[in-house]
Amino acid sequence: MAGIGLDIGSTASKGVLIMEDNQQYREILATGWSPREAAAGLVEKLLGNAGIGRNDIHRIYATGYGRVAIKEADKTITEIKCHARGVCQLLPEVRTIIDIGGQDSKVIRVNEQGQVVDFAMNDKCAAGTGRFLQVTATALGMDVSELAQTEDRSQMVSVNSMCTVFAESEIIGLIAGGISRNGVIAGLHQSVGKRVAAMARRLGVKEQVAFTGGVAINQGVGRALSEELGCEIIVPELCQFTGALGAALLAMEM
Ligand code: ADP
Repeated sequence: MAGIGLDIGSTASKGVLIMEDNQQYREILATGWSPREAAAGLVEKLLGNAGIGRNDIHRIYATGYGRVAIKEADKTITEIKCHARGVCQLLPEVRTIIDIGGQDSKVIRVNEQGQVVDFAMNDKCAAGTGRFLQVTATALGMDVSELAQTEDRSQMVSVNSMCTVFAESEIIGLIAGGISRNGVIAGLHQSVGKRVAAMARRLGVKEQVAFTGGVAINQGVGRALSEELGCEIIVPELCQFTGALGAALLAMEM
């Protein structure tokens, strides 16, 4: 018997399949316009990778913003619970989780048993999320995956606009004025770091601190968060998969 966890995000859909002997398979797809199709595609790929059929799957649990649309799922679970379960499996010493995804950012506090004790979330404004970095990277003629290696912190220029649309105009103006593009990129990372660190401080930060979500792939944001919070930030290797991993573990535990 095996369990599947699906994290159908605003930008990317992630799936984790766990076999009875603990062997894991992972897949990621762009969510696109249809969360339902993304989920069906993930299940098909995961089953193919593991060489098993749908009848070998004990349970499928779904999380993420698109979870309600998923007809394959036996149960839907909140992202908070799934991220906490996934991170505590990978990093049991973590007490604070910072997750930055495509359209929201969250801070989750967990206790010694890995249970959620409190959380804060920003899903109202694109600033401080992956969307902010995607829009501004496009304005700079780049892909988000290139930002971290291109930033130049020695020439950092603060990006002051709170709104993503205004920030886009601001950086176009800065570049037109001859300001270093790589310094602007460092400023973008600082802007996301400041915003999310402020939310974390309001909730209260207890070490160790883990950073997850697709934005955690960007080491520039991790550096900015570490500087803002004055502590080490640990990025698990599977940072974008922690929600799907948590959902799969919960499905296996039922
Ligand atoms: P969601 O669950 O909301 O779809 P994710 O946690 O999957 O969000 O994160 C998606 C975000 O991760 C994108 O908006 C993008 O900013 C960022 N991202 C994805 N891949 C990369 C990468 N290779 N390098 C840097 N950032 C990335």
